[in-house]
Amino acid sequence: MNQNFPFDSPAKPEAAMKLFTVPLQETNVVLVDGRTLIEAESLISGCEHCNRDAEISFDYVLDELTGCDPTRTEYLMYRAGRCPNCRSEVTEKTLITPE
Ligand SMILES: [Zn+2]
Repeated sequence: MNQNFPFDSPAKPEAAMKLFTVPLQETNVVLVDGRTLIEAESLISGCEHCNRDAEISFDYVLDELTGCDPTRTEYLMYRAGRCPNCRSEVTEKTLITPE
C-alpha cells in the first residue's frame, strides 16, 4: 500500500477531507436573469419532452451565453425556462436541441 494514502494516517483527517471537498470559492454560482433566460430560450428549438433527439443539457447553452467554465459553474435560474416548441418547463438539466 502507498504509505502516503491519507486514510492510513488517522492523525491527519484534514488531509483526507481535502481530497473530497471542493472549496466553496471554486464553485461559481451564476444567477441567470430574465434577459439571459429569454436569450437562451431563443437558442433552443426543442426539448426532451418534444424531441427524442435532445441530448445536450440546457446548462450547456447557458455556458455558451455566459462564457462560464462548465466544470465549476452552477446556475441559479430566475425562473424556469420554456421550450419554444412544446412550452414544457426547461431547467438547467433539461435536455434540449439547439436552434
Ligand atoms: Zn419541448
